Amino acid sequence: MASTGVHGSRRPQVVVVGGGMAGVAAAQRLVQEGLTHVKILEARDRVGGRIWTQYFGSDTTLEFGGNWIHGSIGNPIYELAKQHGLLRDEVKPEDLDRPNVRELENEKFLMPGGKVIDEAVVVSFLKNYNEVIEECDAVFKEGRPVQPGDSAGDFIRQELPKQLALSNDIDAVKCTKMALLKHFLKLETCITGCHDMGEESLEYFGQYKELEGDHYNNPSGYNVILDLILKTIPPDCMAYNKKVQCIRWRGEGKKRSESAHSADGVEVECEDGQVFSADHVIVTVPLGYLKKNSRNLFQPPLPEEKLASIERMGFGVVNKIFLTFQKPFWDTDCEALHLVWDQDESNPKGPEEWYKKTYCFYIDSKAPNTLLGWISGREAEYMETLSEEEIADTFVGLLKKFTGKEDIPQPVRTMITRWGSDALTCGSYSYIHVGEKGDDINTVAEPLYRDNTEIPVVQFAGEATHSEFFSTVHGAYLSGQREANRLVNLYASSETSKS
Ligand SMILES: Cc1cc2nc3c(=O)[nH]c(=O)nc-3n(C[C@H](O)[C@H](O)[C@H](O)COP(=O)(O)OP(=O)(O)OC[C@H]3O[C@@H](n4cnc5c(N)ncnc54)[C@H](O)[C@@H]3O)c2cc1C
Repeated sequence: MASTGVHGSRRPQVVVVGGGMAGVAAAQRLVQEGLTHVKILEARDRVGGRIWTQYFGSDTTLEFGGNWIHGSIGNPIYELAKQHGLLRDEVKPEDLDRPNVRELENEKFLMPGGKVIDEAVVVSFLKNYNEVIEECDAVFKEGRPVQPGDSAGDFIRQELPKQLALSNDIDAVKCTKMALLKHFLKLETCITGCHDMGEESLEYFGQYKELEGDHYNNPSGYNVILDLILKTIPPDCMAYNKKVQCIRWRGEGKKRSESAHSADGVEVECEDGQVFSADHVIVTVPLGYLKKNSRNLFQPPLPEEKLASIERMGFGVVNKIFLTFQKPFWDTDCEALHLVWDQDESNPKGPEEWYKKTYCFYIDSKAPNTLLGWISGREAEYMETLSEEEIADTFVGLLKKFTGKEDIPQPVRTMITRWGSDALTCGSYSYIHVGEKGDDINTVAEPLYRDNTEIPVVQFAGEATHSEFFSTVHGAYLSGQREANRLVNLYASSETSKS
C-alpha cells in the first residue's frame, strides 16, 4: 500500500470553495477536530448559497431556496433544529408509521371555472398514484430489470391509467383523475428538479432515500440553522466576494510557488487576482456551476471520466413565485390552492403557456399573506425573463379563472427566484437523469490525489455528491462532513504511524 505521505503535520491549510451548507459543514468539522487553518472562499457577499431567507417586517419570512427539513430520523439538520428549539412541531410517534403523509383536508384542488374537485376523488387518485410511485422506487431497491433509457415519467404515465381503467369510476371521475395525473407529474418535477418526469431515470428513481418522519418547517427561517453552524467557525475563516477562477492542483500547472505549501499542494486563484495556497481544497460549488465551468476551473483539467459524469448528471431549474396580498382572499385555514387543468389543456404548448407549469400556490404560516407557487424546467427558465408586473398579471388572471372570483386584487408585492440565471448556481438541484450511470455521483465525489499517494488534494462536496440525499440540505451537510472526515482521518492516521 502507498504511504499517506503526510508527515505528521497537524497544521494543514485547507481551502473550501463555496460557503453553502456543504462548505460551512466541512469547515465546522475541521475546526472541531483541531484542523483550524481553514479558509472558506465564497463568491457572493453572503453565506448560505441555496439557503437564502428573506425577512419582510415581523410576519413575513420567505425562503428563496431550501425550506423544509425532510424527515427526522437520521437527519442531522432536524437534530440541530430540535436541539435549539427551532421546530414548530415535534415528530409524533404515529407519524413514523406513515412517513410524509400529505394532509389534504386543508388543500383545495380547483379546476377552471371555480370547480372544486371532491376530496374523496383526490384521495382515491393518490392511493393509486402512490402505489405506482412505490413501484418506481422498487425498481432500484429490488434491482428489477429495466432498460437504461426508461424514465419514471413514462412508467407512471403507462401504469396509472391501467389502474384507473380497473376502477368502477364513472367516466367524468376517470377524466378528473387523468387531469390529476398530469397535475401530480408537474408537482413531481418540482420535487425531483427535472423539466419533465420523462427525464428522470426509472432505474435510479429509488436511489434517493426518504428519511422517516415529517417534512419540518423552521418558523425562524433556514438562515438561523446556518448561523448556528457559522458560530462554531472563527469569523476569519470566512472570506466573501472571493470568486475562485482557477484551481491549480498539480505541480506542472502552477505558476507561483511563493508558499511552502504550493510545492505539493494546490493554488487557488480568485477573480480579483489573490492566490491562496493550500494542502487540500474542498470544492463545494453546485453541479450546475461545474457543468458550465469545470473545463476552465481546474488546471490541469479534471480527468475525462469525472467530466463525463458531470455532463451526464441531471441538474434542473425549480423556481418559486411569491405573491403577497394586502390580506388573504382565501380561507385562512386553507394551506394550498391547486390549479388542476383539464387533461387536454394541462401541458404548456409553448413558452407563452409557461404559467401552466405552476401547479399550485401554497400558504405558509411563515408568510400568511403570501401565496407561494412552484415552477420547474424550461418554463421556470422562461419565467425568469419576464417582469414581476407581467408575472403578477398572469397569476391574478389564473387565480380568477380557477377560483371563479372576479374580485381578486393585484398583489402588493411580487417576487420570484431566478436560480436558472444565477451564475453561481446555474440551476436549482440535482436529479438522476435518464442514461446516468449509477456510480456517476460517486465518480464526481471521488477526490483527486497527489501523484502516487493516497493524499487527496482536491475533494468534492455539495448536495450533488451525496448518493442518497442529493438535492437536499442534509445531503449537502453530510457531504461536507464526509470530506472533512477524510482529512481528519488522514492526519489522525499519520499521527498514529508516527508514534
Ligand atoms: C428553490 C429551492 C428549494 C429548495 N428546497 C429545499 C427544501 O425544502 N429542503 C431541502 O433539504 N433542500 C432544498 N433545496 C436544496 C438545498 O437548498 C440545497 O441542496 C443545498 O442548500 C445545497 O447546498 P450546497 O452547499 O451543496 O450548495 P450551495 O448552497 O449552492 O453552495 C455552494 C456555494 O458555492 C458558491 N460558489 C459557486 N461558484 C463559486 C466560485 N467560483 N468561487 C467561490 N464560490 C462559489 C455559491 O455562491 C454558493 O454559496 C432547495 C433548493 C432550491 C433552489
